[in-house]
Amino acid sequence: MVANVEPAALRRLLELQQEDSAIKQLLHRRESLPEARELLEVNERLAELTSDLEIATKQFEEAGREQSRLEGEISLIDEKIGREEQRMFSGGVSNPKELSALQAEVESLKRKKGGIEDHLLEILVQKDQAFATLESIRDEHGITEARSKELSETVGRLTEDIEADLGVHRDQRDKIAPDIPPDLLTLYDKIREQKAGIGAAALVGGTCEGCHTQLPAKEVERLRAEGGLQRCDNCRRILVIA
Ligand SMILES: [Zn+2]
Repeated sequence: MVANVEPAALRRLLELQQEDSAIKQLLHRRESLPEARELLEVNERLAELTSDLEIATKQFEEAGREQSRLEGEISLIDEKIGREEQRMFSGGVSNPKELSALQAEVESLKRKKGGIEDHLLEILVQKDQAFATLESIRDEHGITEARSKELSETVGRLTEDIEADLGVHRDQRDKIAPDIPPDLLTLYDKIREQKAGIGAAALVGGTCEGCHTQLPAKEVERLRAEGGLQRCDNCRRILVIA
């Protein structure tokens, strides 16, 4: 049970409550910065885009390798055709059977080359598409990365400001707390824990500012007459009569 309390200690308790309320508000603000929530979302998107970028880069490079491979095949066939045609037209082969065999071979090589060229065209179209995709992902990645950096700086700055304010209010609290009797402080802390952070409230014009209830005139009269430690009948908070 808290013994007789001086009015000065109660007024001081109300000042402590103001600091505690400010601290609570600042802590809540620090935990619920909209910029921090947006940063989280932006960073998730950035991670997706980084992985998309990797996949698109692989697809583009793969198309490039396939293109080189097909172009290599085509140039080998061209060389072969060149050699066979040279044999045909050099006059070195006079046997008609052998000549027609050479001609058939050249025809066959040209058909094969045509097939590879068709495939190459498809690959070139795929490579163009892969490049367009890659560019578009790269653009979005760049924009998202810049936004992430910007938000991260904003969150850092806002958090620093809040920390500075918290420091001021905590210092203030440390100055006030020793002026309050320890048993009153213990009671205040206990109520504060149970009552949404408010342990002490002023009684202004007959209204408890903790629960905003107008107390009966008779009760207010009694509170004023008795003085000392009083609690709101409705919310049980410590009442500081103004
Ligand atoms: Zn109340």
